[in-house]
Amino acid sequence: MHEMGIVSGILSSAVDAAEKEGASKINDVRISVGVLTEIQDFALQFAWESLSPGTIAEGAELVATFVSPVSKCSQCDTEFEHDRFEIVCPNCGNFVCEQIKGRELTIDSIDID
Ligand SMILES: [Zn+2]
Repeated sequence: MHEMGIVSGILSSAVDAAEKEGASKINDVRISVGVLTEIQDFALQFAWESLSPGTIAEGAELVATFVSPVSKCSQCDTEFEHDRFEIVCPNCGNFVCEQIKGRELTIDSIDID
């Protein structure tokens, strides 16, 4: 389950950032997850519950916002949301599109005490 490694990275980044701020506790960590990463929320939560105890993030909530895929058409520059499988420009029907959202995995904010 690759979520373990991902959450481990998120956790250590969050703990590093919080400790630099002199925090003694993390209350919640908010992340954005692109749908195309195939990461599942339950797996994130499971990994978080497994890894955060014993750190200053123990008891903190991991809040994931899932980001729909967005592509940009190479012909007409239209940007459009789509599902995981069908990527066709709604304006001109072109299939050659550049993925601009949907694969991200970023920490948006960390709430600390
Ligand atoms: Zn187009």
